[in-house]
Amino acid sequence: MKYISTRNNNKEFDFKTVFIKGLADDGGLFIPKSIKKYSNEELQELKKLNYNQLSVEIINQFSSDFITKGELSSLIDKSYSTFREKEVVKISNIGSLKLLELFHGPTLAFKDIAMQFIGNLYGYYLSKNDEKINIVVATSGDTGAAAIDAIKGKNNLNIFVLHPNNRISPVQRKLMTTVEDKNVFNIAIEGNFDDCQNIVKSMFSDLDFSKSINMSGVNSINWARIIAQSVYYFYSYFKLNKETVSFSVPTGNFGDVFAGYLAKKMGLPIDKLIVATNENDILHRAISKGDYVSKKVKETLSPSMDIQLASNFERLIYYVNNSDADITADIMNKIKQNSYHIEKNNLETIQKDFVSESCSEQETLDIIKKNFKDNNIILDPHTAVGVGAANKLSFNDCVVLSTAHPCKFPNATNNAIDKHEKLPEELQNVLEKDENFEVLKNNTENVKDFIKNKV
Ligand SMILES: *Cc1c(COP(=O)(O)O)cnc(C)c1O
Repeated sequence: MKYISTRNNNKEFDFKTVFIKGLADDGGLFIPKSIKKYSNEELQELKKLNYNQLSVEIINQFSSDFITKGELSSLIDKSYSTFREKEVVKISNIGSLKLLELFHGPTLAFKDIAMQFIGNLYGYYLSKNDEKINIVVATSGDTGAAAIDAIKGKNNLNIFVLHPNNRISPVQRKLMTTVEDKNVFNIAIEGNFDDCQNIVKSMFSDLDFSKSINMSGVNSINWARIIAQSVYYFYSYFKLNKETVSFSVPTGNFGDVFAGYLAKKMGLPIDKLIVATNENDILHRAISKGDYVSKKVKETLSPSMDIQLASNFERLIYYVNNSDADITADIMNKIKQNSYHIEKNNLETIQKDFVSESCSEQETLDIIKKNFKDNNIILDPHTAVGVGAANKLSFNDCVVLSTAHPCKFPNATNNAIDKHEKLPEELQNVLEKDENFEVLKNNTENVKDFIKNKV
């Protein structure tokens, strides 16, 4: 399969480049030149597969010029062997809604599903190429832990993770900072998540620097992550035996919900994708009113969604502008100047596939309370936002993506119901282990110096 950049669709790239580089040199995001749409008969065949087999079929559509189907199959088996659920994900009931539990991986958030896969994809690449790669990634809490678990101990790979100092939950932090492998480096930035992301972006666009350390990225714009996430939309659709299904997706960087949009483009009969946000509601304002203007980031109970500019939104902008790379580049410029309002006809196109809602802090707590009382389920605050959005929009039988295990966010659940879930036994020791991280100023040069020193 050939790929192009959202800001220039004349130049073609292969899967290897898309995966290793993450971001195109022109600043755009990679997307496939064309997307295969499954017929109904093909969907019936896919329905017979277990989770791992389904992953292989779907991912292979995108990666066959890089890894053979047989090798992909062993790579997938290895990636998901560490999960607590044999079928990787689990569907449960919560009142009339379904919860798609995506948090049964090693670091208790949905990000493990894509990250375990790409960690092994790096391993596969390095087994065939004599190189050293330095991964640099910004995290609002969960990406970092998932990436570290996927990369730790791998040969010829280092990982540097930037998190906003004091703005992630202690469990989130300890899952990252107690890992002892020598190829793992944690950096706490004195700033918020957007500051961390901006530092990483400016290091990538400094081509001298990024080439000198052979820098690679695993954040949610990496296409390899998106395709691994599309799989659970297919899987849960097949399990539910319905004509069409809507999904409510707790959203930050627009990666997870974009994976649902990709599944729809591949022919999966998805009705609506609900973009559920916390009080950082730029995407809700954008999708409901066309108002894509960022405000100051607020700290909320659901820190993994405390994001203003959603990087993956660029991919949607490209598609709704009829795959016009020049228009996309123009719009991205407007977004940079914080003056983008979505055109009326484009907004109508977006609203065919997406609806949105946001939940306040109090609403999030109320949802956790109510579901504990009515259903005896403790929801993590991100999932609670997904449930709240579905409720507010009266989607009474949709699938809510449950993106994190409640034990990762004891503050929120203690606050709501004076209870918290315990960490699974095998992870309880992280609470006691020594932590190791460096606090750095919100300054790109400082971070570059730190990294240069370590590689
Ligand atoms: C990352 C994350 C999200 C947001 O996912 P995006 O792909 O960034 O939209 C939601 N919930 C949890 C628990 C997360 O870790």
